[in-house]
Amino acid sequence: MPDVPNFQPQCASCGLPPVVQWRRRSADDPTHTVTVLACAAHGITRDLAAHVHAATCTAPDPAHLPACGCTVEPIDPEPAFPAAAPVALPSGW
Ligand SMILES: [Zn+2]
Ligand SMILES: [Zn+2]
Repeated sequence: MPDVPNFQPQCASCGLPPVVQWRRRSADDPTHTVTVLACAAHGITRDLAAHVHAATCTAPDPAHLPACGCTVEPIDPEPAFPAAAPVALPSGW
């Protein structure tokens, strides 16, 4: 028998197998994030799950679902495509 039991991911609220996850700022080390797992009943909205949440975030506390009560961090903007340079048309076009 191995000494380390198999890690079974669980919903942070009820212990069921999780189907969604998001990131929360670590309370011990603010430069790191930790993964929060939740089942279908205890997940936050997909928009919220796209953000990193505060270390004090209560999600997935059912009292706050489907929101979470914290102020989420802004999402890094996608790198924008460089604007197309205006093309100089030959005279006559
Ligand atoms: Zn759950
Ligand atoms: Zn939150």
